[in-house]
Amino acid sequence: MPEKLLEQIDRLMQQRPMYKEVLSAYRDLLGFVDEVEPEVAYKVKDASIRELKAREGFPLFSREDLPIDHEAAAVLFQRLLQHLSSTERKDREALKRAFQAVEGNPQWVNDVIGAFLSGDEVKLTTMAQEVTLSPMVVKFLAHMAVWPSMKYLRESAAEGIQERTWNHGWCPLCGSSPDMAYFSDEGKRFLHCELCGYEWTYPRIKCPFCENERAKDLGYFTGEEEEGYRIDFCRKCKRYIKTLDRRLVGSPGPLELENLTTLHLDMLAHKQGFTPSGG
Ligand SMILES: [Zn+2]
Ligand SMILES: [Zn+2]
Repeated sequence: MPEKLLEQIDRLMQQRPMYKEVLSAYRDLLGFVDEVEPEVAYKVKDASIRELKAREGFPLFSREDLPIDHEAAAVLFQRLLQHLSSTERKDREALKRAFQAVEGNPQWVNDVIGAFLSGDEVKLTTMAQEVTLSPMVVKFLAHMAVWPSMKYLRESAAEGIQERTWNHGWCPLCGSSPDMAYFSDEGKRFLHCELCGYEWTYPRIKCPFCENERAKDLGYFTGEEEEGYRIDFCRKCKRYIKTLDRRLVGSPGPLELENLTTLHLDMLAHKQGFTPSGG
């Protein structure tokens, strides 16, 4: 794992001690994630078809038929469960039970990952409850399990994306919603995909969820004592997105990690009556 990432995780642990458990889980699990070399095969569409599709707002893949290495994801999911159940976490007994459930029925993992990819919250929650784990933990593990494939796709298939003609609020690679946004050093706004981690530019005065551009409907507020973080909201669709300003945050962590450790900002947004992308 890169030295810099370890430093960022340590810094976040000091800055946000309430997230110590999730941060140390992330750090441990990333070690397993990095070892996986997924076998991903996909056919790239003809360039002209791709262009036409992109102009109509179609992403390169849809969530359901993302060409991920399902076998590698299932093996990794199991390995992550096993590791976490050997730590001092409060839910280690449930993790052990989940691990046993998987051993008894390998299809369970495929179903969980399938539910995660298709965004089937009801199924995911039911399956988590079966093994008495928190749905958030199961979701986190499923996300980590598919991460090697996502990384591969981001690095290889992204060439096929015509960034300049893409001005939608959903991911050009997999069609998912953004989970976070950031302002670059030049002040440009980027959206970060909640599933595959792809980042694309988007106008600053425009809601990513309903494409509303009326400045008076759009606003933001900030949390206390956290320079560089804000919550951008839209009064029309009542959605919000957390935004990190790279010009103010010295050395931010990867956005999927920033997202996991800014749940206090989500609470603030909920209190004000806003819902996240998927809600
Ligand atoms: Zn994506
Ligand atoms: Zn909106």
